[in-house]
Amino acid sequence: MTLSFQCKNINKFFSSDGINQKALIDINLIANDGEFISIIGPSGSGKSTLLSILGTLDSPSTGSLIFKDKHLKDLTSRELSDFRFENIGFIFQQFHLIPTLTTLENVMAPLFGRKVDYDKKERALSLIRKVGLNGKENALPSQLSGGQQQRVAVARALVHEPKWLLADEPTGNLDTENGEIIFDLLYQLNKEKKCGVLFVTHDPLLANRADKKIEMKDGEITTILHKNTEGIFSV
Ligand code: ADP
Ligand code: MG
Repeated sequence: MTLSFQCKNINKFFSSDGINQKALIDINLIANDGEFISIIGPSGSGKSTLLSILGTLDSPSTGSLIFKDKHLKDLTSRELSDFRFENIGFIFQQFHLIPTLTTLENVMAPLFGRKVDYDKKERALSLIRKVGLNGKENALPSQLSGGQQQRVAVARALVHEPKWLLADEPTGNLDTENGEIIFDLLYQLNKEKKCGVLFVTHDPLLANRADKKIEMKDGEITTILHKNTEGIFSV
């Protein structure tokens, strides 16, 4: 197993109206290349804050985030943006598509201004096919169902072939059937492409389908469970 992420004693405080809110308390965590990890916990337990820090959308108040021996706080903003381009794809509960762009344009958006050695449009079109949106290339988000919009968001998160997919309650706004489709897509990518997945969910059944389950409460990790070859979790 090769180590990807390492969180060492990470704390995150937010202060609003003079009140210091502790969103994360002493987070210690490792994630290896290609793991499928779920994060579960009640609302307000710090799941989104943790995911944002792992994806370098936010930074810890204290403690370190290390990716393959690199302390991410030492990177310049340019290096950080390259780090994200290489390693991180994000999917959100609210999809966050650009309303004025078509499916194809939304999927290609992360590649704008980037020099790559592949055909951007071909790459985007093949992902649109993979997520089952053939024929919807020119549709705007408003012309798509919730499940279809989330599939656009999945394709967009994958277009630069990141090593990790970070998904914050990606099935939270979807009905069970569409939630299953999105989950299966992430599962398939993990198994076929060895893309690491960090998946935040409220749903214990979905959380149990991961290889490693992180349980959070009040800003702390309460348990980290690993699945054995028989599919049973233990510490
Ligand atoms: P979860 O995703 O598990 O519901 P969050 O990570 O969103 O939890 O929030 C954890 C705690 O941090 C909550 O108490 C929340 O109110 C607080 N929090 C999160 N983001 C901010 C912010 N930008 N400003 C102030 N407080 C925040
Ligand atoms: Mg959240």
